[in-house]
Amino acid sequence: MSTAVREKSQAIKPPQVKDQPLLIGGKWLDSVSGKTFPTVNPATGEVICQVAEGDKADIDLAVKAARKAFEEGPWRRMNASERGRLLNRLADLIERNQEELAALETLDNGKPYRDALAADLPLTIKCYRYYAGWADKIHGKTIPVEGQYFCYTRHEPVGVVGQIIPWNFPLLMQAWKWGPALACGNTLVLKPAEQTPLTALRVAQLAQEAGFPDGVINVVPGYGPTAGAALSSHMDVDKVAFTGEHTTGQIIMEAAARSNLKRVSLELGGKSPNVVFADADLDAAVEGAYFGLFFNQGQCCCAGSRLFVEEKIHEEFVERLVKKAKNQKVGDPFDLTTTQGPQVSQEQCDRILSYIEAGRKDGANLLTGGQRIGTRGYFIEPTVFTNVTDDMKIAREEIFGPVMNILRFKDVQEVVKRGNQTFYGLAAAVWTRDIKKAYTLANGLRAGTVWINCYDVFDAAAPFGGFKMSGIGRELGEYALEMYTEVKTVYVNLD
Ligand code: ADP
Repeated sequence: MSTAVREKSQAIKPPQVKDQPLLIGGKWLDSVSGKTFPTVNPATGEVICQVAEGDKADIDLAVKAARKAFEEGPWRRMNASERGRLLNRLADLIERNQEELAALETLDNGKPYRDALAADLPLTIKCYRYYAGWADKIHGKTIPVEGQYFCYTRHEPVGVVGQIIPWNFPLLMQAWKWGPALACGNTLVLKPAEQTPLTALRVAQLAQEAGFPDGVINVVPGYGPTAGAALSSHMDVDKVAFTGEHTTGQIIMEAAARSNLKRVSLELGGKSPNVVFADADLDAAVEGAYFGLFFNQGQCCCAGSRLFVEEKIHEEFVERLVKKAKNQKVGDPFDLTTTQGPQVSQEQCDRILSYIEAGRKDGANLLTGGQRIGTRGYFIEPTVFTNVTDDMKIAREEIFGPVMNILRFKDVQEVVKRGNQTFYGLAAAVWTRDIKKAYTLANGLRAGTVWINCYDVFDAAAPFGGFKMSGIGRELGEYALEMYTEVKTVYVNLD
């Protein structure tokens, strides 16, 4: 069998998708304005379908529906265990439809189908199951106060929650937001990213099928400055949860502050240091460094985008990495042999290319890649720069693409200091066999997650979030429950 024939037979067929409405109060509707927007297949640049374009009026209706479901519906009277059962049912339905959802994610986002099926879907399903387990285990304390009083706390839902998510992991970001919000008994309005609304709408359908009461879950696709802004500035939204760029996070926090001081949780960008010492298992470190940056086409907020390599092994390490970069198969994300798909949009593609240009201009050494591939779809070659210095634009700003920046270092204290020279603090990693070095870096690096001899390990039970300008609050694990509950103190006079 020739290679071409074999590869063709390994491709999955992209799904056909109809035009999409939005979901408010259990009803699938057109937007109030009647406007729609196109969602685009990043592998071809072609329009997949039209999606109802939500705006302020739709957000108003969705918030009203969520408020009604919160105040009056069966949701608040339901046993907590029943909320858990609904979340488990949703997880089961996602699992049953995982191939369809993976294909839809690939179509809308461009990530290789095999990655969507191997990573996004299992993590999504596990997240819903994890929070299903929490639903009837969220409770307060009894407190021995002075006097004739019985004092206890209740951990109550915050209320109506607005959730704004990005396009890099649409299914997973939805699960990180919905899991804890629903387990805690909130009602919600989700605004998916305008680039990738399709899986959010499909999961909302599955949630209806699972039996969530009308109005508990509302999904309003639309643009950030319109629908997103309406949600974050709404007077009747009790909390806004956001994942995206730090500059957008600032706008959202300001809108939250100026409207009704709604609670805010933010998961923002990063410029994460990934530190490889000379004593590391080099095979594992090369794999980990590659995966830590290039996974998901480099579109990860926690990407190891500042790769610090100890001087002694620099040449060998770089050689191996470049070889790996050159061996990738960039192309059709539905082809099961593809390892790197397109970037999500023309805008992101242009932005990444402008960073590559900045790297060249600033004097970094481009060892491989650096070009867009073809003109159909938004493909960029896996790109590796060496001789990157701390002051260069590519070492300071989030590129969000398949561009690796390699910096040299000599000793432990130096790399801790340089690793921390960023306003971000989302993640970090260290590769070494020396426990003291690992410990010094794990303690010294100011980041929400530190991986030792691994990268991009995620589990629904372990918190994730940022120090400094990488965010506020923690998602996942028990920690996320704090973000979705208010503590109420009750005194009972026993006199
Ligand atoms: P990116 O530039 O990678 O798309 P953003 O932070 O702009 O990242 O987008 C993440 C999410 O934030 C998307 O759902 C987007 O629509 C939304 N968003 C963008 N601008 C605003 C805004 N001004 N207010 C609220 N949400 C916004």
